[in-house]
Formats: sequence, structure tokens, C-alpha cells
Amino acid sequence: MRIDLITIFPNFFTGPFDHGVLRRAIQTGLVAVRTHDLRAFTHDRHRTVDDRPFGGGEGMVLKPEPIVDCFETLGIASKVTRDPGKETVILLSAQGLPFSQAMAHELASIERIAFICGRYEGVDERVNELLCDREISIGDYVLSGGELAAAVIVDAVVRLLPGVLGNPDSSRYESFGVDDTGDVHLPGEVPAATHGAGGLLDYPHYTRPAEFRGLEIPDVLAGGDHAAIRQWRRQRALEKTFRNRPDLLDRATLSNEDREFLASLS
Ligand code: SAM
Repeated sequence: MRIDLITIFPNFFTGPFDHGVLRRAIQTGLVAVRTHDLRAFTHDRHRTVDDRPFGGGEGMVLKPEPIVDCFETLGIASKVTRDPGKETVILLSAQGLPFSQAMAHELASIERIAFICGRYEGVDERVNELLCDREISIGDYVLSGGELAAAVIVDAVVRLLPGVLGNPDSSRYESFGVDDTGDVHLPGEVPAATHGAGGLLDYPHYTRPAEFRGLEIPDVLAGGDHAAIRQWRRQRALEKTFRNRPDLLDRATLSNEDREFLASLS
């Protein structure tokens, strides 16, 4: 995969991309990340990237010319000739579609992704019309720039690329994960996975020591009964989802047993 980040702060990404899974993916060549300084595509003495908004009002707006010039040098196909399965251009924006794990999975199948990081009041809307396939928000709050949002999306997408995580099941049996048969299930169909997958939040995890500051791990996890462990994990995932994100239960893949368990929770 190739990732291009268009920004006025190209050094911003040095920290987030220099650790753990992401760093390893870059070092092993599973992903190539390039940052592009928008100011390098200006033509005036002050390297101006922003201007006042038409219609008046607060703040400044990122100008369209440097962004379009930058794209022309990147060799990314124009919006009309672009193959959306191979290349996509994302505008980071608080007004965008909410980012999700399902979107991360979809983006992980694309060969090249370019991100336009807004600043100030945002980006001239014609950039969105001319260049962007998607406008994405990482949550219902306003950041001061798109760089953090881009870093969040890159992290979530790159860890899904084949070969990036040591164990591919790690990205399957986790919060918001899909089960073995994919996302779509007939009503009442029993999920293939018995824990932590199928659109639920993850179950709680424990490691050694078995007793810490008076708190013991649940007995079932040390008992070696794998069916009982699976059932415990499934029920804890259901419980967490019920308490913290009940909205997810509407879309989750639930068995009759799951439904009975949920009905027992108050
Ligand atoms: N005037 C904009 C609004 O009210 O929607 C906010 C602009 S914000 C201060 C500057 C830039 O930060 C945006 O252009 C966008 O690139 C980025 N940004 C802010 N919040 C974001 C979010 N929730 N998700 C993704 N990007 C965001």
C-alpha cells in the first residue's frame, strides 16, 4: 500500500508513525508513507497556503491551488479516470462520514490512499469536489487540524494489511470485528465466532499475576475448559457492549443464546 499525506506540517507524522506496528510495517515495506509539504506548492514569497473566506466570517481557509498543484505532481489519477478500488483520496473533515472499523477494512483493500489534512476553518470546498472521493470524520468533535485524524485512520488501516500483525486473528476477534462468515447474517443465525466478534466490543483481558492488589482473575480463565472460556468471553463482550455501546447491539450478529443472556442483564 502507498499512503500520501498532504499537510502544512509534514514533520507532524514523525512521532505517530515511528512506533510499534506502524513503524514495522513501514520498515518492512508493507506500506510506503510519503508526506508532502503544501507550502512547497506555493508560488509567492510568503509561501501562502490560506486566504480569507468569501462572505466574511472567522478564520482562514486553505486555498485550492497548492493542493491541486500537489496532486498533479503526485501522479494520482483525476477523479474521473480514477479506479476507486485502486486509488482513493480522502478529505479529513469534521463534516465527513464517521470513520469505522468497517471503513478501515474497506480502505485496507485499496492500493493507494491520499489524505488531505485541513487546517484553520477548513479547505476550499472545490478541493472536495475536484479531488476527493470521501470526506471522513474521526468523531463528533473539532480538531485543530486533519493530521491527527489522518494518523488515526492510517494506524487503523495499516494494522489490517496482510502480514502487518503477527497473528491475523488479532484483527478479527477484537472490538467491532466481523466473524468468520463476514458481516452479513440472516436474522437468528448463530455467529461462527463464539467470542469477541460479530460487531461487539471486545471482552476483558487478564495476564499474570493471577492475583493483583486483592483482585483475582475470574476462575474460569484458569480452569482449562475452553468451551466455558468461550462462553464467558462471549457473555462479557455482550455485557460490555450492552453497558457502553448499546447502539452496536442493533447491528451485531446475535444467537438466541446471546439474546437470552442480554435479556437477563438489567
Ligand atoms: N470549520 C470546521 C467545522 O466547523 O467543521 C472545522 C475546521 S478544523 C478547526 C480544521 C481541520 O481539522 C479540518 O479542516 C479537518 O481537516 C480537521 N478536523 C477537525 N475535526 C475533525 C474531525 N472530527 N475528523 C477529521 N478531521 C477533522
